[in-house]
Amino acid sequence: GDAVSLKGVTKLYDRGVAALGPLDFNVRDGDFVSLLGPSGCGKSTALRIIAGLSAPTSGTVRVAGGGRSIGFVFQEPTLMPWASVRDNVALPLKLAHRPRTDIGGHVEAALARVGLAEFAAAYPRQLSGGMRMRVSLARALVTDPDILLMDEPFAALDEITRFRLNNDLLALWRDLRKTVIFVTHSVFESVYLARRVVVMTPRPGRISAEYRIDTAEP
Ligand code: ADP
Ligand code: ADP
Repeated sequence: GDAVSLKGVTKLYDRGVAALGPLDFNVRDGDFVSLLGPSGCGKSTALRIIAGLSAPTSGTVRVAGGGRSIGFVFQEPTLMPWASVRDNVALPLKLAHRPRTDIGGHVEAALARVGLAEFAAAYPRQLSGGMRMRVSLARALVTDPDILLMDEPFAALDEITRFRLNNDLLALWRDLRKTVIFVTHSVFESVYLARRVVVMTPRPGRISAEYRIDTAEP
């Protein structure tokens, strides 16, 4: 089935900025889709509407599981500087009132997934930009969401770190088969990562092209 379905979605910001649409957009369960387009074409707006962080002006948004099962990764890792890596990753579980005894194991597992098992006790300022992004990814994964929404997550990183993170994200996706919607303005990144590339154009943000990426892999 579809993990995400948008029908006739528009977004009009204050002062009449028509940011989006109408947009029709479906994502199959387990697919890896990239939203590609120049700055200002409405990618973040679309992602925030899917996440329920922003309301559409019109149209309908359906998310499998009613949106409870979404992990969001922002371009800025937005970690709490006063909290350890472990406590940062634990936050979504605490907000969901998961039993204390449950939390430790899930946090360790999420940190191991992103290669940071050894850094649970460290603080964000002690980590590199790439490592902070991994913490942010672990925090998004810790509740085991079905859908992962990523908004230009690697754009601020140097090219080598970014490429490493691309490869690690791909390995993770092959392993977990979560639905991923990945916003980027990098053609390389979109084609390298995704199984389906959706191209957007601005004012208002609309889908102008779509590509299926065929790979030899399953
Ligand atoms: P992208 O993610 O592709 O860069 P955005 O979704 O951030 O695009 O923005 C789409 C358009 O909407 C842009 O013209 C932007 O300036 C405008 N916009 C985004 N957020 C707001 C807001 N909260 N209020 C007013 N205008 C906004
Ligand atoms: P809504 O809750 O109506 O969906 P958002 O949560 O997307 O709106 O945006 C909240 C506020 O953030 C906006 O009213 C605006 O003041 C500010 N904002 C964020 N990004 C932009 C932008 N690109 N241009 C202008 N204002 C912005």
